[in-house]
Amino acid sequence: LGRKLNAAFSSLSRATVVDEKVLDATLKEITAALLESDVNVKLVASLRQKVKVKVKAALDGGSSDKSKEANRKNLVQKAVFDELVHLVDPGVEPYKPKKGQCNILMAVGLQGNGKTTTCTKLAVYYQKRGFKSCIVCADTFRAGAFDQTRQSATKAKVAYFGSYTETDPVVIAAQGVAKFKKERFEVIIVDTSGRHKQESELFREMVQIGEAVKPHMTILILDASIGQAAEAQSRAFKDSADFGAIIVTKMDGHAKGGGAISAVAATKTPIIFLGVGEHLHDLDRFSPQPFISKLLGLGDMQGLMEHMQDLATQNPDKQKEMAKKTRRGETKHPGPISKIASMIPGLPQELLSGSDEEGSLRMKRMIYITDSMTSTELDSDGAVFMDMSKDGKPVGLTWRVTRVAKGSGTSVREVEELLCQYRMMANMAKQAGGKNGWLQAMQKMQ
Ligand code: GDP
Ligand code: MG
Repeated sequence: LGRKLNAAFSSLSRATVVDEKVLDATLKEITAALLESDVNVKLVASLRQKVKVKVKAALDGGSSDKSKEANRKNLVQKAVFDELVHLVDPGVEPYKPKKGQCNILMAVGLQGNGKTTTCTKLAVYYQKRGFKSCIVCADTFRAGAFDQTRQSATKAKVAYFGSYTETDPVVIAAQGVAKFKKERFEVIIVDTSGRHKQESELFREMVQIGEAVKPHMTILILDASIGQAAEAQSRAFKDSADFGAIIVTKMDGHAKGGGAISAVAATKTPIIFLGVGEHLHDLDRFSPQPFISKLLGLGDMQGLMEHMQDLATQNPDKQKEMAKKTRRGETKHPGPISKIASMIPGLPQELLSGSDEEGSLRMKRMIYITDSMTSTELDSDGAVFMDMSKDGKPVGLTWRVTRVAKGSGTSVREVEELLCQYRMMANMAKQAGGKNGWLQAMQKMQ
């Protein structure tokens, strides 16, 4: 889905004149991409209609001098962006675990949807962010369920609770939560069974566990491969066991992800994460705007910021070693560096389509560039490299750019590209209330 939307969006960017024909062609491409990923036909038709109406008025009036043309292009892009966001945005804020108190999360969903895997990923996610986290295995239906929890929790270095002998999941859930509460855990995740001889029994069990542990947030785990059937499945669960958030798993392997995500939006429940692989760290925060900007190739600022924070809290020695390897081009697997690269606007297509070696080569050059910057430059928001016009718009580059290019053995164009990406991000970071700083973070990785 991403690749196709991205292509539609960039051919729009390249068009010199944005008339009705270009708009129609763009919408056609976007429509096709959405339908292919199993987004509901009605939703797609309404999106198409809304964008058209929004843009039509603007296209009708005015001559076509250059600045107007640029404005129109922005208008079309913004209309498409907004409507895509609308498509996946239920407009509801999820519960956010709070530090210094006990937050109980309960995972529900059909067997095989990825509950147990996701529980461990969640525990790791919160643990990394300073929450004392643990897992309670309340699945007594499937043989080996506790073993699975034990193994993955041990691997993830997360505390866990379960039983080989107790057969009542309600008892286990209550015992585990009571124990961890006493030990002042901050995030307690209760994993449940997803299958019973009868569906009504499964729902009854979920309600009983819910009553016993009183979760702050019940999370429905859905498999992306069901596409738009996600709506029916979540409605079925909602009728019996109310949940406040959704995680869509297996987004890595399924073309139907777009369908699942948009279907879920219709149930007015926020998606909080996406499962994007089988490993512990394959969990992406989900929020509508960053998700769509990433799909359209505009980069995922929020994700990047979070990833930088993760890196900063990781073992500094390991970080250094990792960065050294990357500089020598020794990393074969997509490590943190290529993950970061995939979030930087402008880079993703080139990086992800090429080999990881090419990617790390490019990252290497970016690190060389930041190496050649002074600390003033690194601490800045990038504006010191620009000549500004009176109204604060960049009109050219300063001598600093040439110096950095020479000093790093790269080209003015490469430095310019890096700065361009950086300034976009610095602006976003400012809007998000954060501090600028991935230039420094990248420096620290040496
Ligand atoms: P449960 O029955 O709901 O507890 O599901 P499990 O957590 O046992 O997962 C079922 C299967 O799905 C396992 O083989 C997992 O490795 C796999 N799985 C879970 N989440 C993801 C994901 O995000 N991506 C991929 N590719 N596989 C996943
Ligand atoms: Mg399970």
